[in-house]
Amino acid sequence: MIDAVRVHTILTALLMASALGGVAQRGGSPDATQPGIPETLARSRAARISDLRYDLSFSIPARRTDRIAGRGIITFTLRDALEPLALDFEPDQPGALHRIEAGGIALDPHIVNGHVVLPTTALRMGVNTVSVEFEAGDGSLNRSDDFLYTIFVPARAHEAFPCFDQPDLKARWTLALDVPEGWETIGNGEETRRDSRDGRTRIAFSETQPLPTYLFAFGAGRFLVESAERNGRRFRMLHRETDASKVARNRDAIFDLHAAALQWLERYTGIPYAFGKFDFLLVPAFQFGGMEHPGAVFYNAPGLMLEESATQNQVLERASTISHETAHMWFGDLVTMRWFTDVWMKEVFANFMAAKIVNPSFPGINHELRFLHAYYPAAYDVDRTAGTNAIRQPLDNLKDAGTLYGAIIYQKAPIVMRQLETMMGADAFRDGLREYLGRYRFGNASWSDLVAILDARTPDDLQKWSRAWVEEAGRPIISTELALGRAPASRGRSASDDARVERLAFTMRDPDPRRGLTWTQNLQVALGYADHVELLPVRLSGARSGVDAARGSLAPLFVLPNGGGIGYGKFHLDARSLDWLSRHLPEIGDALTRGSGWVTLWDAVLDAELRPETFLDLALTALPREDDELNVQRVLSYVSLDYWKFLPEAERSARAPRVERVLREGLAAAKTTSLKAAYFAAVRNVAVTPPTVSWLTRVWSGEEAVPGLVLAETDFIVLSQELAVRGVPKWETILQQQVERTRNPDRKARLQFVIPALSSDQDERDRFFRSLGDVSNRRHEPWVLDGLRYLHHPLRAERSIAYVRPSLELLQEIQRTGDIFFPSRWMDATLGGHRSPESARTVRLFLEHAGPSYPDRLRRIILSSSDDLFRASGQRQRP
Ligand SMILES: [Zn+2]
Repeated sequence: MIDAVRVHTILTALLMASALGGVAQRGGSPDATQPGIPETLARSRAARISDLRYDLSFSIPARRTDRIAGRGIITFTLRDALEPLALDFEPDQPGALHRIEAGGIALDPHIVNGHVVLPTTALRMGVNTVSVEFEAGDGSLNRSDDFLYTIFVPARAHEAFPCFDQPDLKARWTLALDVPEGWETIGNGEETRRDSRDGRTRIAFSETQPLPTYLFAFGAGRFLVESAERNGRRFRMLHRETDASKVARNRDAIFDLHAAALQWLERYTGIPYAFGKFDFLLVPAFQFGGMEHPGAVFYNAPGLMLEESATQNQVLERASTISHETAHMWFGDLVTMRWFTDVWMKEVFANFMAAKIVNPSFPGINHELRFLHAYYPAAYDVDRTAGTNAIRQPLDNLKDAGTLYGAIIYQKAPIVMRQLETMMGADAFRDGLREYLGRYRFGNASWSDLVAILDARTPDDLQKWSRAWVEEAGRPIISTELALGRAPASRGRSASDDARVERLAFTMRDPDPRRGLTWTQNLQVALGYADHVELLPVRLSGARSGVDAARGSLAPLFVLPNGGGIGYGKFHLDARSLDWLSRHLPEIGDALTRGSGWVTLWDAVLDAELRPETFLDLALTALPREDDELNVQRVLSYVSLDYWKFLPEAERSARAPRVERVLREGLAAAKTTSLKAAYFAAVRNVAVTPPTVSWLTRVWSGEEAVPGLVLAETDFIVLSQELAVRGVPKWETILQQQVERTRNPDRKARLQFVIPALSSDQDERDRFFRSLGDVSNRRHEPWVLDGLRYLHHPLRAERSIAYVRPSLELLQEIQRTGDIFFPSRWMDATLGGHRSPESARTVRLFLEHAGPSYPDRLRRIILSSSDDLFRASGQRQRP
């Protein structure tokens, strides 16, 4: 620890500097000893440090519980040595910093709040060298028995080793790893040397291009290696999949998708891939879909190694994930945000580009519809709630950066970016991005830097546009005003046949009247007729926008404001359209208009304008005649949500036989494997009647096959779990046999972890839940989430209400110890199965008691995760 005297000295020095009108906010400001990475500390360091280099080596023992020894040499140029300088290091055990030397002076290796303060006596203007010996903290190393991988985003590198952990201090990295013989390794740089002796292998990697700490990465362990050449570039894939036929089935597609994405991006940006080699690592249960370390992208293995029973969404999702991470090589890696307040910029471009990149590889897909289903429902799920946030959020300290991530960044932002592209024109938009990438390459930039570049290329006022769309939370409420009139009777026609549009207009209002924001946007309004749909372009720019082109048109059966699927908001239908669509939506001929109709009607259900029973009945009527697989999958997921969350239990039981019959008929009639897979997953999800449950049991045991569908190990695992949570006879034997049948060791371990959560014995489930209070039992986040979902399965929700409050109480710790998506996923998995007023009350009371000092971002996560619960239980949520 830093002693009181030293803190006092620093403070005195600062006060004096300040009194002399000097440099109060720089260098060793009091922030140096605050927990986390305060923005003020980061700014002062970025202003003082340049030419940063790390030379690191780690010695990784064979046993997971043995500590990893590390050493490092950090060199940098310092603008001035007038003030102390804080280095960040926050390992998970005391005494981890063995030695630290700066400027040839051995320093006291004391860590205060995650910082080691280098005194001015050890610093000098110009080149400085700091050398360290330490035990690496395990917090961000994801250690399993025979492999590990780093996850340093957003600022978790300093949990493992001493560094300046902020995105705008880019460094060149040199790495050496000493690992047990037989282990494979991956790093950002190219492998340059490899020596083996005495059962150990030492691997050296070449120096990297400038990278921030969050993009520095390595992995090591027992991995299999595949490699391939595409367009003259060698790709390498490390993985742990034991099923050789599965690898053989997937490998070419995985390499092809990477090569296609790289080629597309090089062409679009006009800048070649900047990071040399391109390797990637498939982790069995990765916290994210992927992580974009240059030269060493990490992926969640099941997302890339698809089963034969993959759905179309999974196939598209794989292509999107690969394109997303590859797009980051330019957006995020080549040009990085200055501070995590702009983390959304790298995510929006990665997703926005991914949507463009994927298109040519899937010529049979309706990509407008795909964009709609991939982004709108998820964005609305957060943006309609009291817990929503702006795309761009302020951030005082990197320790809270994890809470910035979510659907607003990943799903709403690409929708907004498409609006911007439409507004500017695709060429001007692309040219602006090229200028931005070129100007800031290997450096950092913020949103205002990009806006300045784009603003010069459009007559529109981007600052004003940005305020509503980017800087503020929520979505506009857009309502239809439709007035019909009768044309006078004419020859051979009665007046009533000739009802015509007298007036069509849309009003826009801010759900928060104190702001009075306007979300300027373009719409394609659909006017629906018996045999066709007419799309009219409309620009919404004020409180009320009339559609002159519609005046005098024949009265449509319905008006769907977002018929073209490019607008964004809560679209209120007029009464006539709501009535028609809730009975006839499947009759619409155009797939995109139907898709948009489903999204709009679901909003109507949530706003209690349409009964969940009516929606479900409509969905069941629609499924057999829906011919676009994207729409089928969207409707199936609404069916499941409606069924488990919104239908009162009596209604659910009453409708179960029909729901199962329609889904099983869909399964039988489906013409593609992917569609069969989607239907099978839906049946497995909703099954409650004895005939269907016993059919699923026979499928699990192999007595019956699903014609046209080859089930994989993961399918049987999920099936065994779904059967167990339904308490079928011999559920324990089924789980036990499934463990024995599971060949892949990673999947087996995951299943064994989840089994206590499936028990019909409440005591055992209680023990499982209590065990999650210990951080060491939360190491594998995807496993924990599986367990939570089954604990809180709707069929067991009544008996799991008792876990809700302690789960809420754990959230702060979850945020502190877990990875970036874990807090919101923890809450989603906890509350997803609940619909009772009692569970809603538990959440409300927690928030009331938590009081105003409770972290605002966590409050928002809770509010957004509990939104469906509050609606379903008929209660109102208060922000
Ligand atoms: Zn990303």
